[in-house]
Amino acid sequence: MDFFQYYMPTKIFFGQHCLLQNQDAFKKYGSRAFIVTGRWSSKKNGSLEDVIQVLQKQEISYQIFDEVEENPSIETLEKAAKQGKAYGAQFIIGIGGGSPIDAAKGIGVLLANPNKTAYDLLEEGDLSSVPIMAIPTTSGTGTETTPYAIFTDHQLQTKRNFQPKIFPEMAFLDVRYFSTMPDFVAIHTGIDALSHLVEGYLTVKANPFSDGLAEYGIRLWQDCILSLKTNQWSVKQREKMILASTIGGMVIAQTGTSLPHGMGYAFTYFKDIPHGKANGLLMAPYLAIHPHQEKTQRILELLQMGTLQELDTFLKNILGGEICLTPEEMESYTQGMIENEAKLKNHPGKVTKEQIYQIYQASCKSL
Ligand code: NAP
Ligand code: FE
Repeated sequence: MDFFQYYMPTKIFFGQHCLLQNQDAFKKYGSRAFIVTGRWSSKKNGSLEDVIQVLQKQEISYQIFDEVEENPSIETLEKAAKQGKAYGAQFIIGIGGGSPIDAAKGIGVLLANPNKTAYDLLEEGDLSSVPIMAIPTTSGTGTETTPYAIFTDHQLQTKRNFQPKIFPEMAFLDVRYFSTMPDFVAIHTGIDALSHLVEGYLTVKANPFSDGLAEYGIRLWQDCILSLKTNQWSVKQREKMILASTIGGMVIAQTGTSLPHGMGYAFTYFKDIPHGKANGLLMAPYLAIHPHQEKTQRILELLQMGTLQELDTFLKNILGGEICLTPEEMESYTQGMIENEAKLKNHPGKVTKEQIYQIYQASCKSL
């Protein structure tokens, strides 16, 4: 390790009612807010209501775009940006899971650069954004503390990384917004959080700060295993998972993610497998081929599991439902991953096409 850096500029507010207790937080960003959210959940879990209450009290006007779908598409960004530009939005509040908050980042760049198209965001990195506030309601992606976003490109039939690096200005973490997550969303997003902690711990960019955070995050995650198994969550357990998720974001903001994230996009695009589930199915087979076995052992120790087989069985049991792939599909996904240089370069050492194929094979059922 010759050189490393650590940068995470998002101001985090944590605790029940933290938004209502910091009513003036948005004031300095302007008088016209654009709220970006999904179709239903923010209306049910109280987060949208709290945001509206705060904006009204502060006399900040707002418009709502509530059409962000899971794995948001380029077309959705274009549609929302058109509305936000016409409204003259000065800042954005993204409310929901990773999809609306990622979309908020993309829309923020389109508002700050009105001559750019959403496709430009997949090619050009040096673009600024209007300020983004993040109110996560899944735990999760950790997008509230990362500069990343991922969008679905239907033309190329895959999910693609947003090139600008946009950290939210602020994130508000209130456990009350998470309690409405259906069991399967809590499980899938919880496993995404673990995959960030694990992959971040193992990339070539891992450093002493990110490793310290990753180890602490995995320990918090371990404390939630019983809740994941039984779907019984106390406020304390939910808060631990929220912390693990946000810490996972802080880790990958430094380290990036690695092969499971890159390989999982094919499961999501072609098989409609939720992002976290895709990562979870790939995790143990990936750990098995990782060159730093002392670190994979440390992960098992932190998770209080004896073997990779135990981790794999646990993940497959809570995730339920297998993925079935033909040899042709495995071959085509393997080829797609071999061309994903951004993810391959995060993996220490050289990974072969055979190893990628082997990971796919071990993660699903061969037809
Ligand atoms: P999501 O796609 O944002 O949401 C999944 C589902 O959960 C939606 O139906 C949503 O409903 C619902 N939901 C959200 N919060 C809820 C709540 N509190 N109660 C009940 N339902 C709730 O899921 P996600 O897993 O959080 O995000 C996945 C996306 O994030 C993917 O596109 C992935 O690529 C991306 N991601 C980004 C990063 C990053 O660093 N930027 C990292 C990892 C993953 P509504 O649609 O009604 O809101
Ligand atoms: Fe992820």
